[in-house]
Amino acid sequence: MPKSVLVINCGSSSIKFALLLEDQDFRIHGLAENLGTPEARIKGVTVGNEPVDIHIPNAGHSEALEVGLSRLANYKPDAIGHRIVHGGTLTKAELITEDIIDTIRQATPLAPLHNPAHLVGIEATRRLFPDLPQVAVFDTAFHQTMPAHAYRYAVPKFLYTEHNVRRYGFHGTSHAYVSERGSELAGSLKQGGWLVAHLGNGSSTCAVWNGQSVDTSMGLTPLEGLVMGTRSGDVDPSMHSFLAKNLGWDIYKIDKMLNSQSGLLGLSDLSNDMRTLIEASEKGNEDAALAIEVFCYRLAKSLSALSCGLPRLDGLFFTGGIGENSAYIREKTLGYMPHFGFNLSKDGNNNLKRGTEGRIDNGTGPQIWVVPTDEEGRIAKETASVVQSGLGALTAKKSEAVSA
Ligand code: AMP
Repeated sequence: MPKSVLVINCGSSSIKFALLLEDQDFRIHGLAENLGTPEARIKGVTVGNEPVDIHIPNAGHSEALEVGLSRLANYKPDAIGHRIVHGGTLTKAELITEDIIDTIRQATPLAPLHNPAHLVGIEATRRLFPDLPQVAVFDTAFHQTMPAHAYRYAVPKFLYTEHNVRRYGFHGTSHAYVSERGSELAGSLKQGGWLVAHLGNGSSTCAVWNGQSVDTSMGLTPLEGLVMGTRSGDVDPSMHSFLAKNLGWDIYKIDKMLNSQSGLLGLSDLSNDMRTLIEASEKGNEDAALAIEVFCYRLAKSLSALSCGLPRLDGLFFTGGIGENSAYIREKTLGYMPHFGFNLSKDGNNNLKRGTEGRIDNGTGPQIWVVPTDEEGRIAKETASVVQSGLGALTAKKSEAVSA
């Protein structure tokens, strides 16, 4: 079993990395940003919690990882786990082989910003650590248990059969962790029906029945569903042709508007950051107040819709930067769901300490919990388990060869 796992989340000009050590309750975190530019730098903390800020002008991914790991700790990883946004129809974490790299490449049209960056990260860590096992953990994998009536779009069949146009869902690592941890806290050990609201700069909901995702709000891409920081979430699909015909916009401009200029930012014309909007609305900014209202109403609508996928509703888990930290947003959202019998404890909700797990209903009706997400921890756990089963298979093969 690997004793330490390096978790890598690689973007086009940034890398978040964390070294997780078994049997130790600390982690070493780092962020390399502005890679490939004169402003490239690494920020993080050492094992002793000392802040690190190193300027590495023009460094690329490989160099940044090398510098970061050598400075952040004396610990060496035993295995590496990569967060991969799109894994097509792969259903679980996989040891990285040429075939898996091919699958990630083939899913690039479905995640054009993320998957190419992940491939750069894989190439860099393979060069730096040629002897270490590396595992791909996919954001889409947890949702592969969705039934066809949840993942198919009502468009011509050949778009699905020949071009893979279907709903995939994202944030799977977070939904998997939160639903498992939450149902453990609730004493139901993966049984029953739960809704998860992952609310951060990107946001999504998920319905989980007996530990498996049965529906989720994101679709072919992470644009579908909720109002997010800068993403619109659901719009009338005819908005595209309306904008093209009436404003002369091309598809790239429409895509950019829906992904980067919409959501909380677009509605408020102020910020994509929920804290800023709450402060502004308290000072009387009406656009900020409306953005918050739309966010909560649409979230309540999505949770209500997803409850159709559950034979029974046992409760709701809030997570992500907004879900974990904002009692105000949690209360407002539940205010838009009066028919489900949720009974929020005002004190429980308001007094929950930041970053902690806790139950916030008053003991009647479906349960309501705040469960801080731990995507890094989940990636490390899945990586360790894939490596362990790979080693097991290898040992079995070797002993077969010996007895033959
Ligand atoms: P994440 O993407 O999960 O890191 O979440 C980022 C979002 O969480 C941003 O919109 C932050 O404004 C929001 N957030 C963090 N702390 C709070 C808070 N105390 N109240 C409201 N929103 C918060």
